[in-house]
Amino acid sequence: MALAKAEQCERCATELVTISIVVDGNDLEMYSCTTCDTRAWSHGGKPVDLAFALSEVGLHAGRQR
Ligand SMILES: [Zn+2]
Repeated sequence: MALAKAEQCERCATELVTISIVVDGNDLEMYSCTTCDTRAWSHGGKPVDLAFALSEVGLHAGRQR
């Protein structure tokens, strides 16, 4: 596990800020570039797009019964 791995922005090579949340037992991570405002997401260690990330959050966090 590389907890402190620094991801780089694919546009401008700035080091990305990583924000991790746990959704339904899986890590959902947002990588945010403070320079060009690019955001990337991964879920369970796999890259996903924004729509998927939001659907995961919506399914598991926003619609609790
Ligand atoms: Zn960038």
